[in-house]
Amino acid sequence: MSDHHAGGPVGTTPGLVCAHHHLYSALARRMPAPPRTPAGFVDILELVWWRLDRALDLESIRWSAMLGAVEALERGCTAIIDHHESPEAIDGSLDVIAEACAEVGVRVSCAYGVTDRHGPDGARRGLAENERYLRAGGRGMVGIHAAFTCTDGTLEAAAGLADDLGVGVHVHVAEGDADVDVADRLRPLAADDWLLVHGVHLPDDHDLAGTIVHNPRSNMNNSVGYARPARFANPVALGTDGIGADMLDEFRVAYVRHREDDVTATPDDAWSWLAAGWDLFPEARDDVVTWSYAHVDPWSLAFTTGVGPTTVEVDGEVVLADGRPTRVDADEVRARAAEEATRLHRRLEGI
Ligand SMILES: [Zn+2]
Repeated sequence: MSDHHAGGPVGTTPGLVCAHHHLYSALARRMPAPPRTPAGFVDILELVWWRLDRALDLESIRWSAMLGAVEALERGCTAIIDHHESPEAIDGSLDVIAEACAEVGVRVSCAYGVTDRHGPDGARRGLAENERYLRAGGRGMVGIHAAFTCTDGTLEAAAGLADDLGVGVHVHVAEGDADVDVADRLRPLAADDWLLVHGVHLPDDHDLAGTIVHNPRSNMNNSVGYARPARFANPVALGTDGIGADMLDEFRVAYVRHREDDVTATPDDAWSWLAAGWDLFPEARDDVVTWSYAHVDPWSLAFTTGVGPTTVEVDGEVVLADGRPTRVDADEVRARAAEEATRLHRRLEGI
């Protein structure tokens, strides 16, 4: 994957894929502290993320997606598989995310995370948003938040919709121990094109069809335990769970977390998880990222921090040149996103 040009040795790869992202979390940084310190994973959901998602409106969704897409491109990630929730602004939310990513020049697959957390009407509207977006030709999947926040009826409806539309389901699975009966509930529904995100508390022989998406940094941050993804028979891909889209960095974290658990682990294992993203988002294979470093192989990259892209081509168009996005002014996006973050954080204080 390396070659040379007039300026010296450079390395190139296809566009990197983030197999699980939450673009809506890009404005969460510097948010006000929760009312009390979360003491566990469900507390983190209730006190941080389930308050933030209720404060989102279409304008804050737009600027979080713009910022998230710019940050992805600046790190050589050209394809994002996003999982979205905004219970007070469901209708049209997936279009807003898709349009923001298109404006920046990053590929995106969208899904709305259906849940019964906001009653049956909330679940129905979430399903309707997935259906509306996908039937209009949007690239995406049907989203489910997680089995532990859904009735069996909602899980069946989401799986049925995905089947009708010929797409997979994108769902959080056994991230924390609250979701412990998830395998039995999803087993009759899951298919090979499903994305099973986290899988930390799945048994080795869970027998669920689909790709496991491993998010090592997020799992460490939420103190949910190590997923030990090497134990699964399923394909394994890498995601960030909303903590940016620097996939070389996530690969390094995946490698050292694996190595901490098993001293015989190699960077080739974590690289194979990163490379599985190309099976999920094949178009990214045609994108070309030119890196600031010649040795773009797993062993070199695992121990070389700070490697970044100089040029990125998506679908034949240069969308990043000299490390800067070409289609949008990154400084302007950051300034608008900061204004929108201030408004979002103000709304959060009342929730
Ligand atoms: Zn997630």
